[in-house]
Amino acid sequence: MIERPTIDPSDEMTCLGHEEAVFSHGGALAPPIVQTSLFAQPDLATLSEALLDEQGRSVYTRGRNPTVRAVEDKLARLERTEDAKAFGSGMGAVAGVLGALLSAGEHLLFVGSIYGPTLQLAARLRRQGVDYDNVLGLGVEQIVDTIRPNTRLIWMESPGTMTFRTFDVAAVASAARERGIVAVLDNSWASPLFQKPATVGVDLVVHSATKYLGGHSDLVAGVVAGSRELVGRIFREGFLLQGAVLAPFDAFLLNRGLRTLPLRMRRHHESGLAVARWLSVQSRVRQVFHPGLVGASSPTLSGYSGLFSIELDTEQVSDVRRFVDSLRSFRIGVSWGGVESLVIAPFRGDNAAQLERQGIPRGTVRLSIGLEPAELLIEDLAGALGTLR
Ligand SMILES: *Cc1c(COP(=O)(O)O)cnc(C)c1O
Repeated sequence: MIERPTIDPSDEMTCLGHEEAVFSHGGALAPPIVQTSLFAQPDLATLSEALLDEQGRSVYTRGRNPTVRAVEDKLARLERTEDAKAFGSGMGAVAGVLGALLSAGEHLLFVGSIYGPTLQLAARLRRQGVDYDNVLGLGVEQIVDTIRPNTRLIWMESPGTMTFRTFDVAAVASAARERGIVAVLDNSWASPLFQKPATVGVDLVVHSATKYLGGHSDLVAGVVAGSRELVGRIFREGFLLQGAVLAPFDAFLLNRGLRTLPLRMRRHHESGLAVARWLSVQSRVRQVFHPGLVGASSPTLSGYSGLFSIELDTEQVSDVRRFVDSLRSFRIGVSWGGVESLVIAPFRGDNAAQLERQGIPRGTVRLSIGLEPAELLIEDLAGALGTLR
């Protein structure tokens, strides 16, 4: 259990933008939005040369754009990686990694509870000859036993989607390295401030920057961070050709969101933990799935974000709906990581079997704790629990 979150002071400076090259833009403190599709070159020879290095030189905004590049530099610094590439969405980044690094006949291993659309994309890749497994048991031995001779990629989510369970990320990364397998971790939940997968041997870190990194529910973006070599491969084969480009204006908003990331993450940690603790002693709540309350240690985390789930003491979809609909301080909707609190419940009444296969109880409600006063959120939740008779 982490009482107080730890954030590296150098990360606070990076988020605030202290490495930004303001004087190359006449001292503009906010980086300019370079709103252009292409970059004209002084002569044909320069253009021919630039076209050989679209990652390193601005030729066309589907490749490199200075406003986007500024955010990529920042994210690479925060993740302690050599390089980073921004995408037009988190799924763009996921598709970029899987598309660039896997070929027919190869195997992909998912560890933990994985974001639904990522699994759906893997199911599509099966038609193109890429096979996959998803190991839900989180003991390292069990995970390693599921590795096959043709496994090329291990994809982790820790804490996992919906259940928020953690596992030994460093041990899995080292098992991958011994076998020449690329290890990837979707770090959207923790943000680079609370978990730095690359420092424990993970090769590639993926984010939905739509969530905490952007932080204001006003943009859609994704990121892949890793070595120059791997990010270069993904740039050429998973980005430039697949076209999930981040627009300069959205990159500007993402950069602005990053400036307050440390402040927001501290508050999400504090309020999330306060609300989760209060919920854990309520009679109509069976379980609270928060990494700080489940007892397992999570050595790679230095703080908790504000996203967790509870299991209401019910099997009835009508109870789940009454509970959610009576909340006043939580908006009902998908996504998370913004300033406002959000709520969603996966049980629809007709999908009990599917949820059971995924280990998700019917009474599950997911809460994204925003920046509102925690005591008001608790008061609201108390009222909603009162509707469960
Ligand atoms: C939202 C999300 C994604 C996908 O990101 P988009 O920006 O919505 O495309 C990937 N992984 C996780 C864990 C997410 O929550």
